[in-house]
Amino acid sequence: MSLVDPPDGLAGSARWFCVRTGEVLVVPRAGAGGALVPEAEDAVTLGLATEEPLFLGMLDGVACWAVDVPADGEPPPGARFEALRALYPQVDERDWVLAGRAVQLVEWRRTHRFCGRCGTDTAPVAGERARRCPACGLLAFPRLSPAIIVLVEREGEILLANGRGFGVPMYSTLAGFVEPGETLEEAVAREVREEVGVRVEGIRYFGSQPWPFPNSLMIGFTARWAGGEIDIDEREIADAAWFRPTDLPMIPPPMSIARRLIDSFVARVSQYGDL
Ligand SMILES: [Zn+2]
Repeated sequence: MSLVDPPDGLAGSARWFCVRTGEVLVVPRAGAGGALVPEAEDAVTLGLATEEPLFLGMLDGVACWAVDVPADGEPPPGARFEALRALYPQVDERDWVLAGRAVQLVEWRRTHRFCGRCGTDTAPVAGERARRCPACGLLAFPRLSPAIIVLVEREGEILLANGRGFGVPMYSTLAGFVEPGETLEEAVAREVREEVGVRVEGIRYFGSQPWPFPNSLMIGFTARWAGGEIDIDEREIADAAWFRPTDLPMIPPPMSIARRLIDSFVARVSQYGDL
């Protein structure tokens, strides 16, 4: 099914991901705690609709839409706007992923109203997630920035680092953006070498995760240490070390693929021993 266009004959209530400066509108979930994305016949009943909503896809047979709310838009009574990170523990995982898609698409439309080459007003392209310039034909697609993230292993230990930008004494797997003209495997090897001075081999795909901060796609790998001792790039890394699964420092929260990489390693070692 297309993610771009709603199915024909769509009727009934829909779910509205209302985005105001990167935050998403939610209402309290009755009884169980947590929060829900509001459901209604149309966004007008929420008092927030400003322009054409963006179709996000169908979830369990219900259409989901993103709505761009002006910075001074007030939430309806009982509802509130929540930042994506704060929203994660409050809603279902699938809703959180859709909320991230909504935030990115709303921001994309806001920042691509005009052609980047000639300045003409752009228009949406039917059937595609794109905007086209009617004057020069330039197409603009939602921006995605691929970034690799890698768990490096050496004899039952993993390499984790505390980044300069973390702001907390947390240690995570190494990550970095892919450069134009570079394969993902090359990006893995380069990032590890640049950030901690270590060479790796046996680079294997692990999984991926959309990471809407603001528009990354995290592509996860595992790799084995192949040589070199830790020698950190002090502009980016405050500290890096090898950790045993039984002696881990503060690690990232469960919402992240970094945590999934670490949890997967811990589970494997506890089941099979050091492999
Ligand atoms: Zn143009």
